[in-house]
Amino acid sequence: MNNPKKNILPFIIMAMTVILNIYSQDQESSNSFILEKNNEVPNIILMIGDGMGLSQISAAMYSNKNTTALEEMQYFGLSKTHSYNQLVTDSAASGTAMACGEKTFNGVIGINPKNKQLESILEYCNTKDFSTALIVTSSIVHATPASFYANVNSRRQYEDIALQLRYHNVNYFIGGGKKHFTRRADKRNLIKEMEEEGYGIVNNLDNFNNSNNQKLGFFTYDDEPPPISAGRKPGLESLIESTLNKLKNDKKPFFLMVEGSQIDWGGHANELPYVLSEFKDFNKAISSALKFAKDNGNTLVVVTADHETGGLAIKKGNLKKNSVIGDFTTVGHSGSMVPVFSYGPNSELFNGIYDNTAIFSKLKTAVDN
Ligand code: MG
Ligand code: ZN
Repeated sequence: MNNPKKNILPFIIMAMTVILNIYSQDQESSNSFILEKNNEVPNIILMIGDGMGLSQISAAMYSNKNTTALEEMQYFGLSKTHSYNQLVTDSAASGTAMACGEKTFNGVIGINPKNKQLESILEYCNTKDFSTALIVTSSIVHATPASFYANVNSRRQYEDIALQLRYHNVNYFIGGGKKHFTRRADKRNLIKEMEEEGYGIVNNLDNFNNSNNQKLGFFTYDDEPPPISAGRKPGLESLIESTLNKLKNDKKPFFLMVEGSQIDWGGHANELPYVLSEFKDFNKAISSALKFAKDNGNTLVVVTADHETGGLAIKKGNLKKNSVIGDFTTVGHSGSMVPVFSYGPNSELFNGIYDNTAIFSKLKTAVDN
């Protein structure tokens, strides 16, 4: 049907663009910078605190001079975390929901309930010629990062997940779990195979920083990395700064996913100090991401969680002593909604209450804008 009103829409858009341009030229502040930059495809930094519910954030804030880097974020939302078949999700189903935009069964990665393999936002960005990167404080084959590059029926298929990363074209990855690439049932050495095809594989941050390879993996540990309180190195802050340096030099838009993996493990252990020290490590990385986004002017930062872990409740504490006392109600996950914080171009998309699958569609909208 011909709608005459539709025909004037292009002229309205044109007129508004002219007005916006005039407006932006009048502005001396950084606002004008952001307005002008809005036409460019934004960089995306998605940060997932595994098991990081509002209680975890609150406890960490109260024990850190009543502040967190999250207070610099511009928009806030809430995400419904339930999976396709269970009210309380696991990290595979929620990782898949955020990475690929569909709810699935607990334990499943990158495959929907109709057995369809899904494309992740990282892969979508890759088709748009983005650089891509993953940084985690667990093994790189763990459920959360795997949701961005793998399709498997069980999150425990670590060797299959490693094989899928070996054939994937993610540019930079950092995490533990080297053993899943080198000591395998099929006797293959995936690291050797990747190196033969030009992938750089390194074992320390200096070598990561010094390599010019645009496909580069840094295995931090052979197995799962230890807690930060037990000496895990390097901290997430150095890892994100090193990776952002590389992404900046690639001179392309980028998609980076950073996971504070072990906030969840502290929750499972019902150890509040474990949760707090892991959040602190993650919080520093959030500061680094925000600093980059502010300098760069065209970077969307989204910080959220896949679910809450431990059913943590804050019972009492002392702000002056930076002390918090909490109780856990489960050694598993809980079904509370989790917060979503956003900063930068298109950050307003993340305002509101929505399913975790909307994280995918909102990021896709930001890429397509
Ligand atoms: Mg995880
Ligand atoms: Zn968990």
